[in-house]
Amino acid sequence: MVSQPVGNGLGNTLMNETVINVAALLQEDVGGRRNYGLALGPLTLAEEMVATRLDGDLTLTRLRGQVLGSFRLAGTADVECVRCLRSYEETVAMTFAEPFRQRVDVRSGAEINASDQLDPEEDDFFEISDNHEIDIREAIRQNVLLALPMRPDCGELCPGPDTRALTLANGDDPDLDAPDDGRFSALSALLDKRDTPDR
Ligand SMILES: [Zn+2]
Repeated sequence: MVSQPVGNGLGNTLMNETVINVAALLQEDVGGRRNYGLALGPLTLAEEMVATRLDGDLTLTRLRGQVLGSFRLAGTADVECVRCLRSYEETVAMTFAEPFRQRVDVRSGAEINASDQLDPEEDDFFEISDNHEIDIREAIRQNVLLALPMRPDCGELCPGPDTRALTLANGDDPDLDAPDDGRFSALSALLDKRDTPDR
């Protein structure tokens, strides 16, 4: 899906779409701009991690050899609590800017040697496609992940490490009443491990 700017200066809103055609913007002088509203639905961030809702706005600015995307986003993501391992809703809010490198001249179609124009140390660019489109999905995905807590915690009501495993292990076995029981120690060690995922 491609969204064409309407060109009335008010911008338009991208509803659940992330591909933007920047052909017209690329024909403008450096400093040319487009504004968009963003209203994005479920967006997969990582395995079992989904941004359920993201709203905000985006300004695209024509720079030399690139289009700079300046984002403002707020919303919610379903993440897994590191303590109880249950999924819960985390709120996120962030601002960030990402450059989209221009690879071909919009009029001639000739290849642009971007290394002449951009910091050669910076090789982590998103690119404008040969069809003069940018896809902001990956830029958003990466930055939402960065904005989420390193150790997501579902909050005060967190029941703590998985109590179901303990209940199951307890069963009717009277030996488990003794805290020094070897099996219990092994279970504790296991739970400690689960409490510290290596992210
Ligand atoms: Zn929790």
